[in-house]
Amino acid sequence: MYSLPESVEIRTGTRVEKILTQDGKAVGVATESGSFTAGTVVYSGFARSLPSLVSLPHEYTEKLSIIDQTTSLTVWLGLSGKMKEFDYIGSEVWFKDWAYWAMPISNYDPCIAPKGKQLVGFTFVLKGKNNLESEKKRAMDIIERAVPGIGKYIEMTHFQVTIPEKAAVTIKGYFAGQRSPIGNLYLVGTDTDKRSMGVTRAAYSVLELMKVMREENKL
Ligand SMILES: Cc1cc2nc3c(=O)[nH]c(=O)nc-3n(C[C@H](O)[C@H](O)[C@H](O)COP(=O)(O)OP(=O)(O)OC[C@H]3O[C@@H](n4cnc5c(N)ncnc54)[C@H](O)[C@@H]3O)c2cc1C
Repeated sequence: MYSLPESVEIRTGTRVEKILTQDGKAVGVATESGSFTAGTVVYSGFARSLPSLVSLPHEYTEKLSIIDQTTSLTVWLGLSGKMKEFDYIGSEVWFKDWAYWAMPISNYDPCIAPKGKQLVGFTFVLKGKNNLESEKKRAMDIIERAVPGIGKYIEMTHFQVTIPEKAAVTIKGYFAGQRSPIGNLYLVGTDTDKRSMGVTRAAYSVLELMKVMREENKL
């Protein structure tokens, strides 16, 4: 944001509902509060969802449909006190019963929990169409087995379901890249570049987008 000139206006909370095209080129976007014309449109949502915003060639839509996504279940637990099991900075990957990633997040920044208390998070991979409620229960059982006695410390429980990376790197999975078959329409985000993960992957996708846009004299 700091790199943007002052003339740039950022609108949040404004969902793009349609990408407007003319003669096979993007010419703007439509939102619930009106339409905007644009010389270039950069789409940062799920590439898999792009066909719901703009008409695309069948072959490209097919490719987008094989983007592999992973859904995660994170269990956030607010503990009434600091447990010795979580007396560290870092994270642990456990793999017995059901692989998960555990992190005592308030050890990084005590402001995240009330004084003397602790916030810990456990992230699991949700697979297939298993019932979410039974998966939540299974996660709680596994946490209780891994950290016996944690139950009596729990003051707050919050379940969070996300797709933390927009595309998973898998053998048959597809990554969209930054160019689209529609002129003036580009893609960015973690389903457009395979390198690294998380925010670093998102950053790589921006660098690649800038390269592609320079090649096409858009920057
Ligand atoms: C709980 C959690 C913890 C994480 N922790 C880490 C971490 O510690 N380190 C790390 O590297 N990564 C972490 N990640 C992953 C990281 O946040 C993501 O990989 C990264 O943010 C993905 O970037 P992106 O640009 O691809 O997508 P996003 O960050 O999801 O950005 C896409 C943007 O497009 C907007 N958008 C989508 N559709 C539309 C539309 N139709 N109209 C208007 N706007 C739209 C969305 O609102 C959003 O702002 C974490 C993710 C989660 C969920």
